[in-house]
Amino acid sequence: MSASQTATRHVHKAWFCERCGGPLAWAEVEGKEHQTCGHCGWVVYIDPKVAAGVILALNGEIVLLKRGIPPSVGKWVFPGGYVDAGEPTERAAAREALEEVGLEVETEELIGVYSYEGNRVILVVYSGHAVGGTLEGNFEALDVRSFPLDEIPWDDLAFPSTRSAIEDWLKRIETETVS
Ligand SMILES: [Zn+2]
Repeated sequence: MSASQTATRHVHKAWFCERCGGPLAWAEVEGKEHQTCGHCGWVVYIDPKVAAGVILALNGEIVLLKRGIPPSVGKWVFPGGYVDAGEPTERAAAREALEEVGLEVETEELIGVYSYEGNRVILVVYSGHAVGGTLEGNFEALDVRSFPLDEIPWDDLAFPSTRSAIEDWLKRIETETVS
């Protein structure tokens, strides 16, 4: 089994055939491992999950929230979450920012798209700035605050994508002035 086939098994597991309710078993289909129905031959294709986030500058500092729900409880991340079907990614990022840190946000530029072997999530990250609201967390956050750029909590970031996106954002603003 190749590395990508092994990874596929970690991404998601279905329990029963969605067409006939029959039992599923792993089988190779066109060179990749998929769950297939032993009864009717249905093949389960697992879609990726798209998430969007925004790295926010506020008075020259970066806005982060301390996660209060799993995974990575107690670690810092920029606002973000799953995109609803039919929702533009920029709007999802802004919606999450309002929900998670209380700020009305305008997204600016695409910072990057982050995906990892064996992980179902594809994260799309924008830069952005606040146009209203008050910095304030909701029930999902243990804390919400802005950090001076030389005090970013690198050792306590929630996910590999958090670090990568902040690094990419910093590279981008090195030649600009944070507003
Ligand atoms: Zn079936």
